[in-house]
Amino acid sequence: MTFQQLGVIDPILRALIAEGYTHPTPIQEQSIPILLQGKDLLGCAQTGTGKTAAFAIPILQHLYLKQQNNRGFRKIKALIVTPTRELAIQIGESFSVYGKFTGLKNTVIFGGVKQGAQTKILERGIDILVATPGRLLDLIGQGFISLKDVEYSVLDEADRMLDMGFIHDIRKLIALLPAKRQSLFFSATMPPDIVALSRKILGNPEKVSVTPNQTTAEKVDQAVYFVSKPGKTKLLIHLLNTTPMESVLVFSRTKHGANKIVKFLDRAGISAEAIHSNKSQTARQRALGNFKSGETKVLVATDIAARGIDVDELSHVVNYDLPNISETYVHRIGRTGRAGASGIALSFCDSEEKAYLRDIEKLIRQKIEVVSEHPFLNYEPEVEAKDAAVPFGLRRKSNSSNKGGGNSRSRRRGPSGRRTP
Ligand code: AMP
Repeated sequence: MTFQQLGVIDPILRALIAEGYTHPTPIQEQSIPILLQGKDLLGCAQTGTGKTAAFAIPILQHLYLKQQNNRGFRKIKALIVTPTRELAIQIGESFSVYGKFTGLKNTVIFGGVKQGAQTKILERGIDILVATPGRLLDLIGQGFISLKDVEYSVLDEADRMLDMGFIHDIRKLIALLPAKRQSLFFSATMPPDIVALSRKILGNPEKVSVTPNQTTAEKVDQAVYFVSKPGKTKLLIHLLNTTPMESVLVFSRTKHGANKIVKFLDRAGISAEAIHSNKSQTARQRALGNFKSGETKVLVATDIAARGIDVDELSHVVNYDLPNISETYVHRIGRTGRAGASGIALSFCDSEEKAYLRDIEKLIRQKIEVVSEHPFLNYEPEVEAKDAAVPFGLRRKSNSSNKGGGNSRSRRRGPSGRRTP
């Protein structure tokens, strides 16, 4: 199947060829014909499947064909609402790329930055608006945006949107959209609250689903390291120093944890930056830019921040913490091995996370290979803080009375004593 066979028109085909897209991905193959017919769509697909082009191409095509006889001031005719700034920027970029020969204009709005630059573009008139919910409602409230001409609406990453507490914003937005429109709704997972929300938005939708769980899990090489909680940073540094890894996305469960990992890597001379919602928009963009250009080797991210990261050459994903929601694991490892390329995902599992690992293996229906040969299985740190407070002459005694006994070096060896750090 080719894009031409799906009915994609020449100006868009040319842009896709220029991007090197030879064939549609499964979600594109299923969605594009439905959307070109003007039907509503409920899509179960995650980032990394080619979902953006699946909705951007038909929207661009409809708007291009209609704009031929409509040459007045540009009004917002397509609205894409997505949970994070990174995702919004990426979707905007995709519209620009696929639509570069259509003459259509898009812009992206999101919070965390001053609104002046955004409202200036809006005042000049645009066809397609990509927005995060908060800033969108804000600018509607201030009169910079009207949704009354919207003919195409996309709610992207709906499950993440609910996770982030956007449900009230979404309800308000739905109420502002014209009744007569084509609606698209995408979510990586379909729990009952998402299905209920989709019913409020969609008429009688066609459903498409790409089963990312298995396809993702199958094409990514995965391994798990059992490691003590304090041994995780040591293991990460060890792996980064001993394994060829070009660009590594490390997942941390918490923002604080992400900052700590970066600090440890910095101390070990490994270039790393963190990306999470406590960082300013500028800091996040800078970190992402440095990572994409290869200046930083390691990006440490929380799940929500990572959702919008699209890096072509991501060689490794490291799950520094195992997620307690198994689907999150699949989303995370889907960051590597994108659009058909193969990638490597390494997970660190401490004794409290073993139940999470079992759940993940159940979901992906495969056993993850265990790497047992590494020096930090039972690593316990030296009690440096205590040492510092104890007078020098007493240190040895206080150390040897520690549970497990022995000095730190022998402890670092692990239970068999065979391994060296
Ligand atoms: P998405 O799921 O929209 O975030 O897309 C994931 C990645 O796949 C992006 O880097 C796209 O540029 C790329 N991509 C999307 N569609 C295709 C295609 N048909 N052929 C090759 N790459 C694609």
